[in-house]
Amino acid sequence: MQELDGLDRRRWMQRALALAPGAWVARDAWSQPVLAGDPFNLGVASGSPTPESVVLWTRLHDTNWLGTRRLPAGPVTVRWELADDESFRKLRRKGEAQAVPELDHSVHVEVQGLHPDRWYHYRFMVGGPRNDWVSATGRTRTLPAPGSPVARLRLAYASCQRWEHGFYAAWRHLVSDQPDLVLFLGDYIYEYPGATGAVRAPSGAWVLTLDEYRARYALHKSDADLRAAHACAPWLVTWDDHEVQNDYAGLAPGDSGPEVPDFGRRRAAAYQAYYENMPLAASALTRGRVGLLAGDEMRLYRSVSLGALGEIQLLDMRQHRDQQVCTQGGKRGSSMVDPAKCPDWHDPQRTMLGAAQERWLTQRLQVPSGPWQLIAQQTLFGRRDSRSGSGVSLWNDGWDGYGPARQRIVDAMAERRDRTTHVVLGGDVHENWVGHVLSQYGQARGESVAVEFCGTSITSRAGGAARVATRLEANPHYVFADGDRRGYGLVDLTPQRLRTQLRAVGDATLRDTGVSTLASFEVAAGRPRLERI
Ligand code: FE
Ligand code: CA
Repeated sequence: MQELDGLDRRRWMQRALALAPGAWVARDAWSQPVLAGDPFNLGVASGSPTPESVVLWTRLHDTNWLGTRRLPAGPVTVRWELADDESFRKLRRKGEAQAVPELDHSVHVEVQGLHPDRWYHYRFMVGGPRNDWVSATGRTRTLPAPGSPVARLRLAYASCQRWEHGFYAAWRHLVSDQPDLVLFLGDYIYEYPGATGAVRAPSGAWVLTLDEYRARYALHKSDADLRAAHACAPWLVTWDDHEVQNDYAGLAPGDSGPEVPDFGRRRAAAYQAYYENMPLAASALTRGRVGLLAGDEMRLYRSVSLGALGEIQLLDMRQHRDQQVCTQGGKRGSSMVDPAKCPDWHDPQRTMLGAAQERWLTQRLQVPSGPWQLIAQQTLFGRRDSRSGSGVSLWNDGWDGYGPARQRIVDAMAERRDRTTHVVLGGDVHENWVGHVLSQYGQARGESVAVEFCGTSITSRAGGAARVATRLEANPHYVFADGDRRGYGLVDLTPQRLRTQLRAVGDATLRDTGVSTLASFEVAAGRPRLERI
């Protein structure tokens, strides 16, 4: 992994960012490399929108996905434009950004001073005076300003796109569904080696180093359907474990794959590659360093305004969590646990979010900013007992393994139930689960304080699809579950109602598969009750 000790925050900010919304520079001042092929073949993306700003992303890349790189060793000047219209006649902003090799020639332009609640088009250009290369055009939008009226907003949520488990037809259908905002809730890549039985070209060996993480992202972005999904709307992104390693917790590694001598270093490499490949603002790099050092953190959690409709709280449940307890066989990572046999299960000190993020969230949940509070997080939120005989069997890597921390969040939601309806969105389990979040679990009469939509995967196979029906029966606060179908969810929000459609592709192992709606649910504002429609 690359480390640039001497490059301090100020110098890096100057190099990578200061040019963002600036004036035109003289043409002879540009870095004008001769590029052998289209450097924009990883596409464009936008994200982290606010009412007045959005991040525009691209990454210059060689056409040879996994082979030798032919990009220049130094920085490359990339020009960008943002306009009202697709033909760029009504230009709103333009400028230059430096694609530096320290960030793998990625570009993160933070366009400020935009109108709230409005769509824009953007593109990038690189090369000589005649702009030898022009990127695909992306569409993006700002969010409504806090408190301003919004008739309707459509959000899509998705997670878990394991490369060799399928094609990205789900992304193609999501583009046709025209979301205003895409929430990606984790497992953008998997660090696993290509599996036997892969439905498309295997992704390679175990991913351990910065260059290997970078190559894995490039492989994913070689898929035209994924690129189209990035180009169709702004994304809000968070990660789960596989962006680093299965089942890791904070600075504790999981137990899959080869051991590395310094897990903090591996995590930093993975985090840096994540930043390089996602439409994140530079403020996500809290240390302001280009080459992240072992143990360096990134800031992903944040509140997002949906105008008078309310807010989204986007969470990070990997970076700051305590390690899983009572994993069987004294191993690291996750397993099913009977709480009665685990002395640490109810330890109130343990957190999923870390103290600072948990404090932030519980405060934020009590600010009634509108009828809806969406909590965009990584996994199943409610309790899911998977017992097969007597005794309770809970998964220690999910919220069930962090029960007291979950209870503190549930209590915060319950306190403002009269003013705002909380809706938890999730992923990770590769199955659709829809249910009520209870004021207390394990009690006979917990009442509903929120609703939950935990989404299936884009492609990743479900391990426990055969057990879904029995699990649903054993956990009656869930009203729907399905482990057979891959896809994504659509949430239509109005001031009065929320409607969620579970969109399912026919067969994710086929590139041209169709899509249908597996089930739809409505929730009335002010009443955390699911109605199937
Ligand atoms: Fe996954
Ligand atoms: Ca895992």
